[in-house]
Amino acid sequence: MAAPPVEDATLGVARVTPIERIVVRAPNWIGDVVLSLGAVRDLRRNFPAARIEMLARPWVSALYEAVAEVDAVRPSAGIRADARSLRGAFDAAVLLPNSFASALPVWQANIPHRWGYATDLRGPLLTRAGRVPDAVRGRSQVYYYRAMLAAVGLTVSATPDASLACPPEWGSHGDALLGGDGPWIGLNPGAFYGTAKRWIPERYAAVGDTLARRTGSRVAIVGGAAERVLGQSIAAAMLEPARVLCGETSLADLTGVLSRLRVLVTNDSGPMHLAAALGVPVVAIFGPTDERETGPVGDAHRIVREPVHCSPCKLRECPIDHRCMTRIGIDRVVAEAQGMLARD
Ligand code: SF4
Repeated sequence: MAAPPVEDATLGVARVTPIERIVVRAPNWIGDVVLSLGAVRDLRRNFPAARIEMLARPWVSALYEAVAEVDAVRPSAGIRADARSLRGAFDAAVLLPNSFASALPVWQANIPHRWGYATDLRGPLLTRAGRVPDAVRGRSQVYYYRAMLAAVGLTVSATPDASLACPPEWGSHGDALLGGDGPWIGLNPGAFYGTAKRWIPERYAAVGDTLARRTGSRVAIVGGAAERVLGQSIAAAMLEPARVLCGETSLADLTGVLSRLRVLVTNDSGPMHLAAALGVPVVAIFGPTDERETGPVGDAHRIVREPVHCSPCKLRECPIDHRCMTRIGIDRVVAEAQGMLARD
């Protein structure tokens, strides 16, 4: 089927070209990548016959390999390298990040159609530059990305689909890493952005022990290499055995492990969004951030937070006594997780 011609204008010069090859510049963080999936699916509906490739940083690129609407993933290696690799290869570029730096390579590569929000002074580099609608401010990125597609003239579905199906081989790797039969409960005690988003490690240990004893589940602690010591300290503080996988998993492995959990107790983080996308029930502990903006997508999840006057401060480190987290007791978190397990 021939692609329809699309008209754009940049700096007053109109262009009419068919769109058969589209590159989508991906966000740089795991959580945002998950939340971009609804927009990627909407883009596919607009261009059912086009080749859609994601341009993604290496640490997030694997996730798009699990998305049927994506034809290929190419690594992003910086502005110059990206401009070189994109030149002549695409008819249109869609920019999910807001930055000037994400627009520069597609402009340098002279891709005929360049679409995104007119943020960070990059409007002149785009052929369609949308305004951020007020309706998506203060809401999840899942709405923000889709609204960008609408702002540049594409159609979007009524409800975003940010789900992710774990490929079977990733699930098998997850089983191997867990190293035995479950049922498994996950703890995700880290948060890349800063310590302010982290609930108290000793309380994670107590939650793990309590849930293991009451539900007959086994406990896995997940996280990145930077959280290895944190994970090991939590396991050491527990009376029940725990499998520490911090720093042991690629993104595909982590997806496989998360897909095997009955519930994940977590801080506001990328793995939280990943688990939610996989359909794993999530108990998310929020302090300095706003769950309306960064909470897990879907109705099956529970938010635990303490209404302190200074929250949400959105700071990386707490300048006072971290009361948004220290006032959240073990019993509240256990009750939410147990409630989910009872419903499971
Ligand atoms: S300032 Fe308040 S909301 Fe921010 S981290 Fe500290 S206690 Fe939490």
